[in-house]
Amino acid sequence: MGPVLEISRPAFLADVAAVRARITPSQLMLVVKDDAYGHGISWSAEAAADAGVEWFGSYDVPAGLRVREAIGGRGRVFAWATSEDEDVADAVAHDIDLGVGTRDYLARIRSVAARLSRTARVHLKIDTGLHRNGVRPEEWADAVAEARAGEDEGSVRVVGIWSHIAEAGDAEDDAAQERFRGAVRQAQEAGLAPEVLHLTASAASWWRPELRESVSRIGAFCYGIRSADGPDLDGIRPIATLSAPVVGVEDGSVRVGLGSLDGYPSTLAGASVGTPVGPVTVRRVDLDTLTVDAWPGAAIGDRVRLFGPGDQGEPSATDLAERIDTVGEEILTRLSPRVQRVVTG
Ligand SMILES: *Cc1c(COP(=O)(O)O)cnc(C)c1O
Repeated sequence: MGPVLEISRPAFLADVAAVRARITPSQLMLVVKDDAYGHGISWSAEAAADAGVEWFGSYDVPAGLRVREAIGGRGRVFAWATSEDEDVADAVAHDIDLGVGTRDYLARIRSVAARLSRTARVHLKIDTGLHRNGVRPEEWADAVAEARAGEDEGSVRVVGIWSHIAEAGDAEDDAAQERFRGAVRQAQEAGLAPEVLHLTASAASWWRPELRESVSRIGAFCYGIRSADGPDLDGIRPIATLSAPVVGVEDGSVRVGLGSLDGYPSTLAGASVGTPVGPVTVRRVDLDTLTVDAWPGAAIGDRVRLFGPGDQGEPSATDLAERIDTVGEEILTRLSPRVQRVVTG
């Protein structure tokens, strides 16, 4: 067998449970962007729904449709990418909530939903300082008025208000929350009645309880990926193990059947891999093989672990990411299709 990414469903559910315990009473919105950070949307959304997770964040509508297909009518799916009219129509037809960061987009959603004689469920986004999509504070009153008009005609319902914070520092994030709360009050005074509020993603949800609103959007931690340069997290462990076979044993070195073409960055020379006797060092990364230090008893067909929870001394995906200045999800999402994915448990 060639390279395999083995993903543990029980480990995923344990991480989801640890996240939910940590953030309660705020509810988890399980973020599944980038095909659930390379782990697979469908099985993980279904497993999470079975465990009682009620909110899913898909980034775009096509991914939201995959979640909806996996979970049936059981939960809420939130797609926040500004989408073409066709995707908006699909979202409305399949009960997917839309994140709305501009008044233009809100107007388009109104007209698509009106044309279909349906009500679109929307979450209005206030820009709390990140300047990355979101209604600017000076335009908030107009956007709220537009939403109220949509509610009056029955084409939209504002079910949520949300924002994204920088997670840049406590003072800055506190100020963002102040702006958020101000925008919520303003919307309520204008007659909107959002059922949910969400502001924080993984790191702030975990470390800053006072910033959590009724829902917390968390992806990476649920898949066992800690933040790069961040500390370990109680109860969270990697759920995916990348392994590859020994394909050659030479004097003092071992060749492993996986290389940069499979998505293992060539800049990872010097990292370690896990073996039956513990970690050894990667000497070089070629297109389809790695050369690593030999260990006693190494034999063709043995399997080496490139990353995983650490049971054989292998690093985590985030440990690898930190060596090359990226984030753990990047290590997973760049793996090539040649790497076989297997979900266990
Ligand atoms: C990616 C993302 C999240 C989840 O963040 P993680 O750190 O990956 O858990 C939450 N909200 C938004 C808007 C995102 O884009």
